[in-house]
Order: sequence, then structure tokens, then C-alpha cells
Amino acid sequence: MTYRESLEQAANLIREHRGFYALTGAGMSTESGIPDFRTPGKGIWEKVDPIATSSVEALNNNPRLFYEVGFARFAGITMAEPNPGHYALAELEKFGLLKGLVTQNIDGLHLRAGSKKVWEVHGHLRTAYCLGCKRRFPFEELVQQVELKRIPPMCDYCFHMLRPEVTLFGDPMPATFFEAWETLEINCALMLVAGSSLVVYPVADLLRLAKKLIIINLEPTNYDSKADLVIRAKCGETLTDLLELLR
Ligand code: NAD
Repeated sequence: MTYRESLEQAANLIREHRGFYALTGAGMSTESGIPDFRTPGKGIWEKVDPIATSSVEALNNNPRLFYEVGFARFAGITMAEPNPGHYALAELEKFGLLKGLVTQNIDGLHLRAGSKKVWEVHGHLRTAYCLGCKRRFPFEELVQQVELKRIPPMCDYCFHMLRPEVTLFGDPMPATFFEAWETLEINCALMLVAGSSLVVYPVADLLRLAKKLIIINLEPTNYDSKADLVIRAKCGETLTDLLELLR
């Protein structure tokens, strides 16, 4: 099937089902300059091990490693801007075709592009909180303390450690994941996955709630054989072209 034929098939599926839900991963933001985890030759995993440097275990047992090595990845993400793929999804929501968007990304780029119904199931980088008194602070507070070598960063009120509002490896899933699950379980006739290797659980379990599935990804995934349509192309270009077909 040609790229054009795949796009038309995706547009037809969306029209037939009167809309869709989306699930996005790190591949959605590589075109904004944020490296993903697993693209061969470019993924973060080949440079630092995110489990060793940015897990709950690292935060609790080796906060210096967490803040000196793992944290640089988070701080770098906050400089990125949304790309055409993020804007296309926001437009599709305005047209009433995208019903809601689950993202594994912590970069906040869907919200910044104008998407409204977003479940950030791995958290975000807008805030941090204190592990003692649970007060919330702007994420910038963490960045400033780390830049001033105040490691680990501390709460000015109770002197416990601060941490980012992201779901680290080893953390329980936040309430927003279960909200997304409940909505998809009842409503998801069609899901479009963009830019995810689909190896991170429990997010990948959400796919079984969809009756029909479209996958846009540069590399093969374990769910390709279950999908009704796989488009092996970049998210930015594909979602922009899909928006044009559905206008
Ligand atoms: P992943 O790195 O495991 O997989 C990304 C997939 O996207 C790969 O299969 C790759 O082939 C594909 N891809 C890369 N660029 C693409 C493009 N332009 N168009 C289409 N496909 C493209 O990412 P994941 O599945 O999201 O899982 C990794 C975890 O890492 C997530 O839990 C997420 O929280 C976290 N993460 C987030 C960010 C971010 O916020 N931007 C960045 C890195 C990792």
C-alpha cells in the first residue's frame, strides 16, 4: 500500500467511527528535538540508562546520581517547542474528530499546541513537589536549585527532598491513567497510536480497550500484527497530511 493509500484508509476509518482517541509516545516529540528512548543510534537509552539514573530507586538511594545525571534530561526537555504533528492533533480535536489524547510524554507539548482533552499519564514538567509536606512548586524551582548545586533540592518549609511531578520507573500510575482507562473502556472504537514503541506498561495495555487500531511509527512494534492499519512514516508529516484529508 502506498503512503497516500494508507492516509486515505486512516481518514476513512476516522470518518466511519466519527472520530478517534490518540495515544502518543516519545516519537511524537523527536521532531521537536527531544530524543526518544529507543530509536537505534539516537535514543537516550544508548547514552544513559534511565532506570539507573531516573527511577524512584535512584531518587531514594542515590539522589546525587538522580539530580546530577538523570535530571539533565528533564531540564533539557523544557526548552522544546511543539511541532506540526502536535498542532495537527490539536486541530483535529477542534474539528470534533479527536475525542481525547493519552500521552506518555512529559514535555507538555500537546497542551502548548492547544490540545484540551489530554491525559498526561506519565506526569509533566510544570511542577515539582516535596516528599515531606507534599507542597507543590514550579518545576523551575528544581532547575534553579540544581543549577546552584543544591543537590538534592530541598523544600524551604520542611527541608525534605523535592522531586519532579513525573512518573518515574517504579512509581505507581497517577489517577489520570485510571481516568483515561475508564473513558477508553467505554468509548474507544478507534485508537490512533503515534510515535511509541509500545513496550512500556501499563500504558501499552490501553490498546486492548480499542476496537480498531491505527499505528504511526517509524519502527515496527509488537502490536503491528493486531493493528488495522500501520503507517511507517514520521508523525509530523503524517498527522499534517491526515488533517488536510479530513478538513
Ligand atoms: P520509545 O523511545 O520507546 O519509542 C519511540 C518510538 O517512536 C520508536 O519506536 C521510534 O521508531 C518512533 N519514532 C521516533 N521518531 C519518530 C517520528 N518522528 N515519527 C514516528 N515515529 C517515530 O518511546 P515511548 O514508547 O514513548 O516510551 C518511552 C518512555 O519514555 C515513555 O514512557 C515516556 O514517558 C518517556 N519519554 C518521554 C519523552 C518526552 O516527553 N518527549 C522523551 C523520551 C522518553
